[in-house]
Amino acid sequence: MSNLRNVDDAIADILSHIHPLGSEDIALPESLGRILAADIVSDINLPPFANSAMDGFAIKAHDSAHASPDNPTTLIITMDIPAGVTPNQALQSGEAARIMTGAPVPEGADAVIPVEATNADFSQLDLSTLAKTVALYQAASIGANIRSIGENIRIGQTILSSGTAIQPADIGILASIGKSVIPVIRKPRVVIIGTGDELVALDEPMTVGKIRDSNSYTLQALASQDGCETIRLPIAPDDSEAIRKLFNEALALKPDVIISSAGVSMGAADYVRAILDEMGEIDFWRINMRPGKPVAFGHLGSIPFFGLPGNPVSAMVTYDVIVRPALLKLAQKPDVAHIVSAIAGERMASDGRRTFARVTLRRENGELVAYATGTQSSGALISMVKADGLLIIPENIQVVEVGTSLEVRLIRPIH
Ligand code: AMP
Ligand code: MG
Repeated sequence: MSNLRNVDDAIADILSHIHPLGSEDIALPESLGRILAADIVSDINLPPFANSAMDGFAIKAHDSAHASPDNPTTLIITMDIPAGVTPNQALQSGEAARIMTGAPVPEGADAVIPVEATNADFSQLDLSTLAKTVALYQAASIGANIRSIGENIRIGQTILSSGTAIQPADIGILASIGKSVIPVIRKPRVVIIGTGDELVALDEPMTVGKIRDSNSYTLQALASQDGCETIRLPIAPDDSEAIRKLFNEALALKPDVIISSAGVSMGAADYVRAILDEMGEIDFWRINMRPGKPVAFGHLGSIPFFGLPGNPVSAMVTYDVIVRPALLKLAQKPDVAHIVSAIAGERMASDGRRTFARVTLRRENGELVAYATGTQSSGALISMVKADGLLIIPENIQVVEVGTSLEVRLIRPIH
């Protein structure tokens, strides 16, 4: 195991070269899941005016002091206040204002009696036929059923802090206080590239000896899932000029990160390394993990560059372990990776590297039990498709016995 790099040291080293992105202003409805880039302070009171919490009658509380079902108090109805209008007169003693939920309480009123505690019938919508008086069956205390100014939010109050991942309720409250444009951390802009004479894009005809490019698509999906803006460039052949051109095209897109797959192992036709050395400063690492030992990291021009292995499972696992933390740091996002504990349902072998085994999870007697998804070949992407998660076998372990409890990084929701 000599000169293999520890996984956590590699991640820490990479993160030390990653600098969080700045902010941009976006329209509120676009902000779901984005990270707030500033504290949000309300410049209004909420509610902005005292309003009724019930459909009923606004009154002076003391007018109702002696009201009961046996001895109702009768008041004269002098106003009708639907939601959305401003009352144009003050309420006097002996008067009641018919009022709807959310409508402003008139000056002079200090309580609302719900319609259920009166003889009125609001299902009768024609105002001309409304009774001119109302009988109250209940006494109301001062402030009853009135939502007062600023009782939810006061002017100057910080309602959301910088760094918050915006949720639906947050969008609602931002709308309530009239914020139509809000500052959020920029999405990392990620360009995805790949190389290989054998690779054929989805929209090109297949010929003998070729395989479809899949890494570009999985890597794009992974980065999108992590909230990045992604651009996928066509695969370049194994040819120095073509690779140089591809790297220049990637740089011209002004990305925050470039993710490449293939060409970082010791393969014969890997021109990638030579061109990387020429156009950037890249370290080629052998990381103590399986799959995904060979990984390159550095800068192409001034842009952080990740060179992932070509094997489809290795590309996905190294993305998850190595690239994702860097993208989250750029985006200032908290890591919401789901880790669960599971016990090994079968004996599993490892080679002493930190191993990410593709497993399905089953609930047995209240416990999650992990079973390998057949082949663990790093070329067999189907092992990822069948998997619920990656079982993490720590370093320096050769055999995991049945019943051993280990962590599993979920790659899809489990039921
Ligand atoms: P390399 O790193 O170029 O030696 O590639 C290692 C293995 O990964 C080979 O079997 C390649 O065919 C395969 N591979 C490389 N790039 C891709 C890709 N974009 N999609 C699917 N398989 C790939
Ligand atoms: Mg190749």
